[in-house]
Amino acid sequence: MTIREQTKLVKNKSLSFGKSNKILIQSMCDFKTSDTKNVIKQINECAKNGADLMRISILDDDDVNTIKIIKKHVKIPLVADIHLDYKLAIKAIDNGIDKIRINPGNITKKSELINILNEAKKYDTIIRIGVNSGSMPKNIKGKNEATKIVNAALQYIKFFEKNDFFKIVVSLKSSNPITTYEAYSLFSKKSKYPLHIGVTESGFDEIGIIRSVAGLSPLLISGIGNTIRISLTHNPIKEIETCKRLLHDLNLYKNYPTIISCPTCGRCMVNNTKELAEKTLNYCVKNKKYITVAIMGCVINGIGEGKNADIGLAGANDSYVIFKHGKILKTIKAKDALKSLYEEIDNF
Ligand code: SF4
Repeated sequence: MTIREQTKLVKNKSLSFGKSNKILIQSMCDFKTSDTKNVIKQINECAKNGADLMRISILDDDDVNTIKIIKKHVKIPLVADIHLDYKLAIKAIDNGIDKIRINPGNITKKSELINILNEAKKYDTIIRIGVNSGSMPKNIKGKNEATKIVNAALQYIKFFEKNDFFKIVVSLKSSNPITTYEAYSLFSKKSKYPLHIGVTESGFDEIGIIRSVAGLSPLLISGIGNTIRISLTHNPIKEIETCKRLLHDLNLYKNYPTIISCPTCGRCMVNNTKELAEKTLNYCVKNKKYITVAIMGCVINGIGEGKNADIGLAGANDSYVIFKHGKILKTIKAKDALKSLYEEIDNF
């Protein structure tokens, strides 16, 4: 049994974190929440692409008042992200939000926090305690950044539990992947609450993806993490796609194709291996073909190196060879390569 399965089960009528539940994929809308039309459209697009839940920012009354409307037009659960103003948290709960994310470091009055907890109890709302290395109280002690983040989270949990609140999910974010890894690893030894994992402000494109994967892979492999967000300076669809790819490569997400493509070398017999691999990935994603496909630059080594793939394509000068589990099926002209490959994928 992994650490993931040993966490507490935290659930309400729309969300279930921990125990044997799958790792939930989430992202965050990048429109202001009162821009209802765009927010609804974005949430629905994200849901179609694999998001299990979406977070929206609640900055003011205009935002919080749209929650009821948005909820009517989307099918996945929503998380309200609240900073500073406890009244917005209470209104978000009253308006039917499924979960709220607060950083108790920036709602410092105990009476205000207690008001939020009481309202969440009344409506069965889950609360994420979102500790962020950039906004921790100054009095938190610890031998390093990761320990301080964990100590802050444990202190908040103690306060929540003292006030009879237990529907807690925790995040311990830093923009440093090593601090992130250390904080989540340490926390999972000290508490059984489900974890929302992520490297915050990780950056754009490969920079953000590599930083996130560097921090999150070792956690996921060791069974830590119950919901995931990969924060990229990009739109949320990209974040969801990246989450799915990471989880899929770690055998934690089934519904995604596996595309293998060789790096090419001096033996390569064609010049479009990358283009073919990209088009094949898009085809498999679009048509829900969750198999393994190999795109290889030459027949000399490609068929052997791609023998674990369900279907493969290997370059052979002005033609290509299609193979299945390492056995040649046919040789085709270059111009027909993708069409024939797609047919074999469809038939598999
Ligand atoms: Fe080189 Fe062929 Fe291997 Fe690709 S499959 S890396 S072209 S030897």
